Amino acid sequence: MATTLDYALKTQAPPRHGLVRNFIGGDWVPGDGPTIDVHAPATGEVIARTPLSTAAAVDAAVLAAQRALPGWTATPIKERVQVLFRYRTLLEQHIGELSALIVEEHGKVENEARAEILKAIELTEFACALPQLATGEVLEVSRGVECRTERHPVGIVASIVPFNFPSMVPHWTIPNALALGNCMILKPSELVPLSAGRIAELLAEAGLPPGVFSVVHGSHEAAGALCDHPGIAAITFVGSTSVAKAVYRRGTQNLKRVLALGGAKNHLIVMPDAEPEMTSSNVAASMSGCSGQRCMAASVMVAVGETNAIVARVVEHARALVAGETLGPVISRDAKERIERYITEAEEAGARVLLDGRGVEVAGHEGGFYVGATVLDGVTADMRIARDEVFGPVLAIVRAPDLDGALEIEAASPFGNAAAVFTERGSTARYVTERATAGMIGINVGVPVPREPFGFGGWGDSSFGVGDITGRGSIEFWTRTKKTTTKWNRDAGTNWMS
Ligand code: NAD
Repeated sequence: MATTLDYALKTQAPPRHGLVRNFIGGDWVPGDGPTIDVHAPATGEVIARTPLSTAAAVDAAVLAAQRALPGWTATPIKERVQVLFRYRTLLEQHIGELSALIVEEHGKVENEARAEILKAIELTEFACALPQLATGEVLEVSRGVECRTERHPVGIVASIVPFNFPSMVPHWTIPNALALGNCMILKPSELVPLSAGRIAELLAEAGLPPGVFSVVHGSHEAAGALCDHPGIAAITFVGSTSVAKAVYRRGTQNLKRVLALGGAKNHLIVMPDAEPEMTSSNVAASMSGCSGQRCMAASVMVAVGETNAIVARVVEHARALVAGETLGPVISRDAKERIERYITEAEEAGARVLLDGRGVEVAGHEGGFYVGATVLDGVTADMRIARDEVFGPVLAIVRAPDLDGALEIEAASPFGNAAAVFTERGSTARYVTERATAGMIGINVGVPVPREPFGFGGWGDSSFGVGDITGRGSIEFWTRTKKTTTKWNRDAGTNWMS
């Protein structure tokens, strides 16, 4: 069983966090593959090395889970969630330290990192309520004969997660999957491997038996091994669309249950009657929060008709953001260069740069991967910046003559994560809700993330598989139903169903 001392030892050697280890069967185990550097995006400094585990590490985690599964599955759900009640308290007690780790490995500013842990707490609270929500059903279907359904875990499951929420996205799946009796193997992003280690430690401290939750670090090789391993019954994936498709294909090819969430390109439609201050502050916050590295971030603002005053105010709000203080860096030097290339290409194609975040430097953090908030007007729907997921603090403004024109632009995107409309008219809001081709709709809300018990999930190229990854919808994914038909009444005789 891991201890805080283990973690302290693990973190002493240079670089600061030393060599990250896998967490398998309740122990810290060295990774079996080559290692790569982990950079702090705010400074560029190497803060850890993380292993790119191979199929052997996945195999070891599955073996540990196979040993743990019978006992965990046989534990009544009301007892299983006691671990999560204790874990929730630990998250609250450690919120400062857990947020600081996110700030360090991801680069988020403090309040964004803290919000991740608050959301992780909310997700854990939902899982604590699962005994109330995941009950079976019983009905007398003919005289003396009853049908009964009960939920059983799927078995050993895997969760492959992206870099952009080192703690929140793992919590989309961990609490629900565990509460419902599964054993889970988490594969964090190799860009942000540190938070996952603390999640494993705190779960162990809360009393989770060894082997019920393991962490295997790595990249495509470890993810591929999870998709192939015959001992794994279900996989969730969150990341870019190209990898979501590959994981969905490979997992289902191996006859596993798979839910794979992909990238996004979210359109915020701004009507001329929108309330200017609320709209402009929400649009600016949506495009710049977490440096635009949210799958729910505003990426395209579709400005309908006369909206120049709102556009000007969006620029003012975005200009007020200070890189290194209220705006964090992006994840890597590659990401910074990619985002800046998109801006340059759009400018060369005729877009007007209202606010330019290229070349931003933060004093004392010259090696950091910063891109300042950027607003481009006069973007046309055919430009790459209007079509691709840029994943940085960049807002592309596309002009549309009317609402139907705006909806056409939204519908042309293959992604379908989120869409929003800013208006003071209920009928306009309803019109957009009915027609937008996204799974999550905002009415005067720039980041329309459904909160528990509602499920999170998009449409189109933003999600492959059935159902949502969180909330009530996820209960179906993490369980199988057993249907039992019972007759104890000897006088019931026979009928057409006997
Ligand atoms: P990514 O696709 O590069 O990586 C995601 C995970 O897949 C990581 O764990 C990574 O190690 C692994 N991986 C990378 N290449 C792989 C391969 N060839 N085969 C198997 N696994 C592989 O995504 P990212 O850059 O870490 O995260 C950003 C992306 O995630 C954005 O596109 C964003 O929109 C998306 N995202 C989507 C949602 C959603 O709910 N739809 C939520 C968060 C992030």
